Amino acid sequence: MTSLLRVNQLCKAYLINKSSGWFGHKQTLHAVDGVSFELSAGETLGLVGESGCGKSTTANLVLGLLAPSSGEVVFDDQPVHAQKNATWRAARKQMQMVYQDPLGALDRRLRVIDQVIEPLDIQNILDRASRREAALAIMTAVGLSQNLFERYPHELSGGQRQRVVLARALILKPKLIVCDEPISALDVSIQAQVINLLQDIQKQMNLAMLFISHDLKVVNHICDRVAVMYLGKIVEQGPVTKVFTRPAHPYTQALLSAVASPFKPDATDRIILEGEPPNPVNRPSGCAFHPRCSKASEICKQASPRLGQITDAHQVSCHLYPLTTVEASPC
Ligand code: SF4
Ligand code: MG
Repeated sequence: MTSLLRVNQLCKAYLINKSSGWFGHKQTLHAVDGVSFELSAGETLGLVGESGCGKSTTANLVLGLLAPSSGEVVFDDQPVHAQKNATWRAARKQMQMVYQDPLGALDRRLRVIDQVIEPLDIQNILDRASRREAALAIMTAVGLSQNLFERYPHELSGGQRQRVVLARALILKPKLIVCDEPISALDVSIQAQVINLLQDIQKQMNLAMLFISHDLKVVNHICDRVAVMYLGKIVEQGPVTKVFTRPAHPYTQALLSAVASPFKPDATDRIILEGEPPNPVNRPSGCAFHPRCSKASEICKQASPRLGQITDAHQVSCHLYPLTTVEASPC
């Protein structure tokens, strides 16, 4: 199967000011550090990891909202950052974003139906009557009842607002949607409904989905594959069924051990992660996870492990596995 989205050695670094005494100096923050993955039509890839690990930056790079320091994103055979011409704009419509906070994503002064129609207005697609018809159809498809169409965002519940955001993302018939923590701002009782809706819509539209979440149970439920990020790097990726049942990286093992079964093989096996993730400006030497890793050895402090294959389609970057040789940072 050819991939709809190809992300190759993507890096995003920021120069930041660091003041010390009378003088300031610049330091580099590697927000995304050599990230590569692929995504096919109809497939869902979960991106997980603690806050600040680079998940949202990766999403913004994929959508062309941020320019990478190096590396490339290819969507539907179009390089995402290389061109901003009409061809690219046409391709860009095929990628849509669903954000965490539906109220923040909507304009409080506009009726929700007008916000769903807006992308068609901007792209100048269809005539006025057909735009309204398309909006009614997609709003119905995401489960909004007709009495809500003419309301303002503040008159809707959180779950209803997220359905409006989804309708607005779907009205352009995208091939890819990027969901950044799409349910974390919603009541727990509503979360399952929105997840099931996402799954149904994805099936109907054969959508590819990049699903960013820290909720591993939801990722297990909705994703085909998962990539685990730590300090800007993917440290493990593969089919959810493999990564969640036989996590190979000590960091993935710790994340999963904190979640109630079915992931935890033994309820007594909880691995406590010591400390906060290190500051990405002062990235630890070698494997960035070594200060928190119970399995670290001398080589871990000195050399950064490369992502390597352990079984079919399951990759890990850790010196415990002989396949993972030392990498030179691409960034
Ligand atoms: Fe732990 Fe070393 Fe593996 Fe890093 S490379 S996860 S420090 S064992
Ligand atoms: Mg984020």
